[in-house]
Amino acid sequence: MMHDPTLVVEIRELLPEDGWARYEDTGRATVACSCGLNTGWIPKTEAARIAQDHPTAPKGTAPMPQPSIGRIVHVAADPSMNNGADIAPAVITRVWSDTVVNVRVLLDGDSAPQWRTSLTHTDTLDDVADDVRLSRWTWPPRT
Ligand SMILES: [Zn+2]
Repeated sequence: MMHDPTLVVEIRELLPEDGWARYEDTGRATVACSCGLNTGWIPKTEAARIAQDHPTAPKGTAPMPQPSIGRIVHVAADPSMNNGADIAPAVITRVWSDTVVNVRVLLDGDSAPQWRTSLTHTDTLDDVADDVRLSRWTWPPRT
């Protein structure tokens, strides 16, 4: 079964003040997933915990490895800088959390390794929007 849990934070629109639209965080959030999970509006901290505990990969696969300094991951690259390829390997140089790391990008060319900071994990770079692709990393596919 595929999982793709999404956490949505509830926002309430308030009466405009001085002509400015105003919004308020209600403190509630909901988690929904392609497996059928739908928590409805619950306290945000509870929703965050459920989203974090929820599987994000098909059942039966090995758990995701933890990032650690020196491991190689994949990041998006500008093909014009990378011998035509849009993915490049990168070495983790700092681990901020299980999903956020700094890396040095090893382009397929003679440029010095590029430093990218606070990249967030994504399961795949394929369906990531262009404007955030450069701030994501993913594990190399298992072969
Ligand atoms: Zn699920």
